[in-house]
Amino acid sequence: MNRFKQKTVLVTGGTSGIGLATAQAFVNEGARVIVTGRDADALATAKATLGQQAIALRSDAGSISDAKELAQAIAAHGLMLDAVFINAGIAKLTPFTDVDEDLWDLSFNTNVKGAYFQLQALLPYLNNGASVVINGSINAHIGMPNSSVYAASKAAVISLAKTLSAELLPRGVRVNVVSPGPIHTPLYGKLGMDQTALQATAAHIQAQVPLGRFGTSEEVAATVLHLASPESAFIVGTEIIIDGGMSQL
Ligand code: NAP
Repeated sequence: MNRFKQKTVLVTGGTSGIGLATAQAFVNEGARVIVTGRDADALATAKATLGQQAIALRSDAGSISDAKELAQAIAAHGLMLDAVFINAGIAKLTPFTDVDEDLWDLSFNTNVKGAYFQLQALLPYLNNGASVVINGSINAHIGMPNSSVYAASKAAVISLAKTLSAELLPRGVRVNVVSPGPIHTPLYGKLGMDQTALQATAAHIQAQVPLGRFGTSEEVAATVLHLASPESAFIVGTEIIIDGGMSQL
């Protein structure tokens, strides 16, 4: 399929995991893709992987000045966006008793505040009919121990998506959310656990998935592309959960 030929798409946090797989899926369907991240090497590797159709730009999703600069960089490339996947995010799983203000601020700055102001900065550069997809998480809906800050940040961004969906409809922009359950990505290596603890956690999580496995980034990407394309024109302000039944059964 070539659903995104002549379309331009932004994927924040597009250098790894779900973001990279989604950027690749957009490229495979003809899109020009802008990916962001903080790490210069990861940006260079993503650009090499995605090829000529890709632009890789350094931008910290937790910085409002970076959000504004990213919008200006897109304008400087003479581009208007047909779809945006607000995906950059961090998950720091920490017991309630160990959470400090820094962890709270980092999580909310990246997952909520940055996402909100990124979208605000991009508004002038969204084509009429554009689709915005925000990456939530089923953690917003389940009571997983040690996830209080992460889960609250995702609940906040899911709520923002609903309100902005109503506010942006007159502007011709749809906003929806994908909320993945456990997906195999490098995120798990960034949780700050040693290998043994990581394996035990992964086995514990997997046992709670009725389908009996982690999902793949490509499975999330397929839903993002559906929400980003006109075939989902009647889907507005909603959340699609992709979790092998974990939060539902
Ligand atoms: P990942 O493999 O760690 O990828 C995260 C991406 O976001 C990377 O490209 C990373 O690049 C970028 N990123 C992180 N912090 C950033 C920042 N401050 N500014 C700009 N870019 C930043 O993780 P993933 O699993 O694909 O996660 C992507 C999204 O899916 C997150 O929002 C996460 O909450 C959500 N999610 C994941 C799962 C799961 O099980 N994996 C489940 C539900 C929801 P740099 O580090 O170079 O900046």
